[in-house]
Amino acid sequence: MRSINVIDITQKVKDVCITINYEIDPLVRAAFESAKIVEASKIGLNIIDDLIENSEIAKSYKAPICQDTGMIVAFVKLGQEVHIEGGSLEKAIHQGIREGYDEGYLRKSVVSDPLLRSNSGDNTPGVIYYEIAEGDVFEIELAAKGFGSENMSRSKMLKPSDGIEGVKAFVIETVEQAGSNPCPPIVVGVGIGGTLDKAAYIAKKALLRPLGSHHKDEHIEQLELELLDKINKLGIGPQGLGGTTTALAVHADTFPTHIAGLPVVVNINCHASRHQKVVL
Ligand code: SF4
Repeated sequence: MRSINVIDITQKVKDVCITINYEIDPLVRAAFESAKIVEASKIGLNIIDDLIENSEIAKSYKAPICQDTGMIVAFVKLGQEVHIEGGSLEKAIHQGIREGYDEGYLRKSVVSDPLLRSNSGDNTPGVIYYEIAEGDVFEIELAAKGFGSENMSRSKMLKPSDGIEGVKAFVIETVEQAGSNPCPPIVVGVGIGGTLDKAAYIAKKALLRPLGSHHKDEHIEQLELELLDKINKLGIGPQGLGGTTTALAVHADTFPTHIAGLPVVVNINCHASRHQKVVL
């Protein structure tokens, strides 16, 4: 049995909340550079240059990449042979969010009640998912989810007979309807199968894969590549001002489902694709 103190968890969560808001993912930065080679629109190229400059200013001035510093979503992988000591794991994660958003001068964007709409004042609670694993592993992957992109996400319970063509049509329709709202170039997470909630979970989790990595199954990798190609032919372009760089990547994942259903969820990340894994 391995012990981990909640103080260390809070510290790591705090540090990551600040880092992901100040420093763009190096893979996103590399994708911007690659996009500059192929982007057909002059305005699109200028926007990509602006996004690169913005990320450099944020890093050097220790300021957020974007004014919407997001709601924290945490995916916890907890080994059965790990003992959390010193207090509550959940409270430790929330405390890390609280301290990170306070010390990092990050905008607090969470309202305590979705209908009464009063700000919780410290960006808590985060959304926390737990996965129990074998052994003594302990990982937390944190994402700061902006709602310009979250709001453009959609779900649909397709019929099994809709098949893969139905999935493709729904993903393309979702990105087309989103237009400039999710601040393209975007990352598109696609969850296929399971139940409605499971499809949403795997779509969001797929967004956390290293940018541009592909699914291990060849037919899903082909789906990712085809969707990326079709999305980038929509003409939405960087920040929606036209061009060929609408998405940097499509990450899809699947889960077994019921004979009578084909759930699909599209969860979108903006270009400020902020996430990082903590291993303790
Ligand atoms: S979608 Fe992303 S880039 Fe756009 S406002 Fe929200 S966090 Fe910022």
